This record gives sequence, structure tokens and C-alpha cells, in this order.
Amino acid sequence: MAGEKTLVQGGMLLTQGHAGDVIPSGAVLVEGSRIVAVGESAALEKEHPDVNRIDFGDRLIMPGLINAHTHLYSALARGMPLTSEAPSNFLEILERVWWKLDKLLDDESVYMSSMVGLIDCLRHGTTTLFDHHASPFGCTGSLSLIAEAVNQVGLRACLAYEVSDRDGGEVALAGIEENRTFIEWCRREERENLAASFGLHASFTLSDETLAACAEAAGGSGFHIHVAEDRADLEDARRRSGKSVVGRLADLGILGGRTLAIHCIHTDGDDMDTLAETGTKAVHNPQSNCNNAVGTADIPGMLERGVTVGLGSDGFSASPLDELRVANILQKLVKRDPGVGTVEVCDLLFRNNPKIAGLFFERPVGVLEAGAFADLIVLDYRPPTPVHSENVIGHILFGIAGTPVDSVMVGGRMVMKDGELLGIDEERILARSKEVAGKLWEKL
Ligand SMILES: [Zn+2]
Repeated sequence: MAGEKTLVQGGMLLTQGHAGDVIPSGAVLVEGSRIVAVGESAALEKEHPDVNRIDFGDRLIMPGLINAHTHLYSALARGMPLTSEAPSNFLEILERVWWKLDKLLDDESVYMSSMVGLIDCLRHGTTTLFDHHASPFGCTGSLSLIAEAVNQVGLRACLAYEVSDRDGGEVALAGIEENRTFIEWCRREERENLAASFGLHASFTLSDETLAACAEAAGGSGFHIHVAEDRADLEDARRRSGKSVVGRLADLGILGGRTLAIHCIHTDGDDMDTLAETGTKAVHNPQSNCNNAVGTADIPGMLERGVTVGLGSDGFSASPLDELRVANILQKLVKRDPGVGTVEVCDLLFRNNPKIAGLFFERPVGVLEAGAFADLIVLDYRPPTPVHSENVIGHILFGIAGTPVDSVMVGGRMVMKDGELLGIDEERILARSKEVAGKLWEKL
């Protein structure tokens, strides 16, 4: 859609946050929701003297970040009391924390958790996110409520409802219907900032029958599912099918070029080959994996086999750059090799997440180039050493990642300027969220 042109100027500009992509004094020319030119600030100013201007002085401009897997509803779990014995394994974490919380979510808590979760994402530079939602007893209409919050905060999101058999057949059917309804809505409405994928919880909470029903209902939209996060998922798949999690899901038609397989920790070489052959995208969530003590995905192994691996947060943090920092050091520690990881993990965030998002949104995101959606973030980063295309990764990992994001544009619209959210009353939302969380915790 054409519109007024605006020249967004700053100091250093990273077009992809990757080697070869540094413009020392850069600008982005925006028309409507998209970028029409990227280049040296002075040259663009000369070519387009009569356009609107937003000048960020010498601050850093880079592409809006993409989170390839999160759970916005987890926003209400911050500081949540534990009402039973502390969990000692992954299944107990689910049963004693997450499945207790998700059963209590109603319309208001779904909406409020989305609002505060999205605000947190925005403040950490995320402009596009893939949410995986669960509210088994407040399922119907939940994705529309999250979509409403996405619109209000002004971000871009691909939403999914996680179907599971864990709360019985009726709830599973409601989950299937919720995905189907929202997928159809997205197809009909064609909103630039909203997309859908078909959510599934995980192999170990889904029967063959339910998975077959989901494969039929999904209509080529692709799936968003936790895969082999814990050993228990692998053991369950072996019991049910005699195969690994990846093998079972492949047989049941769940894998494919638009499917996001989250975690992929307990996978072997054959599984990774299957992911590569089916074009399934894996998503790594390093901090959540550490916190749940479930293991670490073999990122170099998957990349070597040609699997597209993206980076998510699993709701553990709101910051993709924080996840990036941990992904980098975690691979080194696990492999006991300081030489692995750095370039690879930067590729997860800056190359593969945009590739994944490109499957769901009409124009490229996560990159500043002509034709892409105008999604960018601005940081007051003051480098103490020279920055150029060959060393920008070092600056991202050891400097930019720890610098607060102060301004954000999504689809050509400023949604945060100098630390202030535009168009929403953040204080009022936080106050209401505290009340909603407090009431919810009383029911645990
Ligand atoms: Zn997850």
C-alpha cells in the first residue's frame, strides 16, 4: 500500500545485523508499511529532499527482531507461587506450573497476559513473534483476543493454539476448531501483521487419532509443535509407535516446509535428516532448555545437515538478543569447543528467523532492504571500539545485546519513541495485569 514517504535517519545502520551489512551513517526510506530504499543518509536526503523525516541522531538502527517461539500467557507466571512440592523433572514442571496456570486462563487473563507479554517483547526489540497459546478452558476465541492485543501494541505475530489430549476429547476438539477458525480468518482478512499456523502441544500429549484430525484440519497451514524437548517425549513416542518423536510425526503428516519443530533436543542423525528432507524448521530456545534442565539441541549437527534452525525464547525471556548470547556460549560449553557457535547462532536469529517469518508474512521482515516491511529498532549504542562489517557480530553479542531499545517502528508506524509506548497506556495496563494475576494466583 502506498502512502507518504518518511526518511528514517540515524547513525550506524545494520541492514541484517550480519557481516557485510554495516552502513556507518544510514537511513531507511519508508512508504506506507514498507521500505522503499536503504542507504547512506546524505545520499537519500539529497535524492528525497521533500519527504517527512524522523532523525534519530547518531543512534543505531537495525532490523526489528523476530522471536520464532514464545508463549505470551507465561507473562502472568512471573513470581507465581508454587503450590505443591518443587518439580524435579520436566513433566512435573508442566504438571505443577504450566498446566495449572493454563487451566485457569479466561478471556481477561488471556488478553492481559498478551498485552503485558507483547509490551515486554516490544521493549526488547521484538517486532515479529510466533506465539503458541494454551487456555484449555478458555479456548474458543482466545486467538482473536491475542490478535486484538497484537494490534493494540502494534506488533506482527503468527498465532497458534496448542491442541492437546491432556484435558480430554472435548477440549482437544475445541483446540482444533480454534486453529481452524483463526486460520480461515487470516486467509479471509489478509492483515499484514497477523498470520496463523496450526498449534499442537507435543507428541506425548497427542494420540494418533487427534494428530490425524489435525493434519486434516490444518489445510496446509503448517504446524507449530514442541518436538523432543525432554527425554520423556522420546520414550513416549517409542512406546506408541516404535519410532522417535520426529519419526512418529513424519509418519502422521505433521512435518513439512511450514512446520516449526520447537526444541528438537532428543533427536539423532536420522531425525535431523528427516527434518532436512521434509524442510521442517527447527527452533532453538537455549535459556528455557537450561532452566528446564532438558538438554541442548545439536545446532551445528542440524545446520550441517541442511536444517533451517531458528531462535525462540519459549516465553523464558522477552529478548531475542539475550537468547542469542546464551545460545552462543551454551554451544561452546556443551561441545567443549570455544570455536563453535558464534557465526552459527547469529545465523539463527538474523538469517533463519527472517526465512521462517517469510513463510507466513507477505513481505520480508527482519531485514532492512527495499521491499521489506518497515520494521526497525533504534538503540543508543555507543561503541568503544571500531565497528565494521567484519566485527559486527562481536558488537552485537558483547554490546548491542545489552543496550536498551528506545524506539521501534513496525510496518512504517512508530510504536515506541524514546522509551515511550505510543497509543497505549502502559501504566494502566500493568496495574490491571497485577490485579488479574493476583486473582488468578489465588485459584492455584
Ligand atoms: Zn514452548
